Amino acid sequence: MDNSKIPQATAKRLPLYYRFLNNLNHQGKKRVSSKELSDAVKVDSATIRRDFSYFGALGKKGYGYNVEYLLGFFRKTLDQDELTNVALIGVGNLGTAFLHYNFMKNNNTRIMMAFDADPNKTGTNSDGVPIYHIDDLEEKMGDVRVAILTVPSNAAQEITNRLVEFGIDGILNFTPARITVPSDVRVHHIDLAIELQALVYFLKHYPLIEDE
Ligand code: ATP
Repeated sequence: MDNSKIPQATAKRLPLYYRFLNNLNHQGKKRVSSKELSDAVKVDSATIRRDFSYFGALGKKGYGYNVEYLLGFFRKTLDQDELTNVALIGVGNLGTAFLHYNFMKNNNTRIMMAFDADPNKTGTNSDGVPIYHIDDLEEKMGDVRVAILTVPSNAAQEITNRLVEFGIDGILNFTPARITVPSDVRVHHIDLAIELQALVYFLKHYPLIEDE
């Protein structure tokens, strides 16, 4: 099917659905209702039904959705059959945490190499991921086209320029710096400090109403 037909908001929820359905499948569940899904992934059931209608998955009344069918669809759509190798740049506190984190558990992505400017950090870490000196970036990247950026803000743009020059496709930017890239490079920006601040602001100004 043509993925460009799926709205971006729906596409963003796919990994969430996928993770939950995968768990259900492991538990041997054959079907799931939109209510069950909704409770588990915290997306309202009308949205779930609309999302799923884009995949041609029409839940039957009193039956729900077929778990295997949905999983098969998500696997294909999310390219779960294909392993995506990722490079991590900046092995500080945050970068080290990512190296320890097992992305493979739910995703078919893997940090296969890391880079740092500090020669004391190069070598192979305890997770078996090689850490190269940043000077060797272009030489070592091989066919890796996705990078996680966990360097200090003041190094973010310079590293980004090198990645762009190299031919990177996507950057997950964890630095607070707003980096500039050409229009054919996708950047997703995750600023943990801002997310936390937003949460605190919402707690104060938009209190949640308890269910009856
Ligand atoms: P974090 O921000 O992840 O908590 P930290 O406080 O330990 O890390 P930072 O100063 O933010 O350290 O640096 C993160 C990592 O980025 C460090 O390991 C540092 O050596 C590395 N680093 C700094 N400049 C560069 C650069 N130009 N290229 C690659 N790595 C760099």
